Amino acid sequence: HATQAHEYVDGLFEIVKKRNPNEPEFHQAVKEVFLSLIPVLSQNPAYIANAVLDRLVEPDRILSFRVPWVDDAGKVQVNRGFRVQFSNAIGPYKGGLRFHPSVNASIIKFLGFEQILKNALTGQAIGGGKGGSDFDPKGKSDLEIMRFCQSFMTELSKHIGPDKDVPAGDIGVGAREIGYMFGQYKKLVGAYEAGVLTGKGIGYGGSLGRKEATGYGAVYFVEEMLQDAGSSFKGSKVVVSGSGNVSIYAMEKAIQLGATVVACSDSGGYIYHAEGINLDTIKRLKEVENKRCKDYVLEHPDAVYVEGCAGIWSIPCDIALPCATQNEIDQASAKLLVQGGVKAVGEGANMPSTLEAIDVFLDNNVLFAPAKAANAGGVAVSALEMAQNSARLSWTMDEVDTRLQTIMHNIYRECIKAAEQYGVPGNLVIGANIAGFVRVADAMLAQGV
Ligand code: GLU
Repeated sequence: HATQAHEYVDGLFEIVKKRNPNEPEFHQAVKEVFLSLIPVLSQNPAYIANAVLDRLVEPDRILSFRVPWVDDAGKVQVNRGFRVQFSNAIGPYKGGLRFHPSVNASIIKFLGFEQILKNALTGQAIGGGKGGSDFDPKGKSDLEIMRFCQSFMTELSKHIGPDKDVPAGDIGVGAREIGYMFGQYKKLVGAYEAGVLTGKGIGYGGSLGRKEATGYGAVYFVEEMLQDAGSSFKGSKVVVSGSGNVSIYAMEKAIQLGATVVACSDSGGYIYHAEGINLDTIKRLKEVENKRCKDYVLEHPDAVYVEGCAGIWSIPCDIALPCATQNEIDQASAKLLVQGGVKAVGEGANMPSTLEAIDVFLDNNVLFAPAKAANAGGVAVSALEMAQNSARLSWTMDEVDTRLQTIMHNIYRECIKAAEQYGVPGNLVIGANIAGFVRVADAMLAQGV
């Protein structure tokens, strides 16, 4: 059966590459999942017989649309918008929107594909989707952002709804953008459908703890993994890449658990602060003043700023939390981390490690928490926001945080259990892919072709 499963995924991977030419990120995400699923496909012939995986790699639909908007100079600009509705086997399509110049079909499809399995892992009733635009928010005025968001939603509104498809934020999309998009959606449909978007402001249907959820959740997951190995964040030296929403709250929780965070970064470069990064400064620079990591050293002369962000992985540390973007750790960076004595890696971003980098970590017995499991706290709390919106009530921060901790604990246990059951004990990459897949696959079998 194992040979048959191998041949099946090899054949299917060729089809995926042929149908989706020039989409390296999508191929990478699919390849990782295919390799992980061989044990489960070997033992459950029904999945192959019913072409479950063939169906899963082909999105329900891919929407691509024009987003015209007028800039502050009165000039008409055109961007491309996307929404990939990948799978609604276990709930409405759910996943963020990314506004970044690098956005293309490959990026949105890899993110949407990962979202299916991640969302299934949370144990909540949410399917997988993703969207975004190649719009670059950097340097845009508040009014330009508003006009762009309104135009983006003018088209997107035709395809989403609280029981249909529920977008949220991702890189370049925070509470401000969600607010503008929600305002436009409301005007277009003429109804107050709070559950159509998550990551909303607290005053109009948002959930306490959503902002913190991805970063906190990643640290809860890694802490669980460390404790299983007789260790913890306490007293450890941590490097966190990025300085956006995921990174900031990963740093906050790691510090709360007794770690020293010595570095973080943005697209310009990284800060190294041996005494420990001052989180209040980072929060003010990034959340309030819209400034760069470079500006941190003006206030903290004992810290150093280095141009270029890949160098951050040469800093010796116990725990590395890549929270910036896809493929930020390649094979060479992974080797540097191992040389620097890294004991655990927790992926806060989506697919931050290349396939070769993951192999380096696993071959060197580094505890490795894959993105689908480790960063699922964000979307999990989005599902809690949807639940609160449906019930027309709001939970306290404590209530949300307790649920988040339980969810991350359960995801960890599920991954461990699946890895053990399928003969790869401790391999959380395979465990996460299998545990997420089985949930979706069984729903697909039950619902017919
Ligand atoms: N963009 C986040 C992710 O990658 C959150 C998605 C959501 O809340 O729907 O999972």
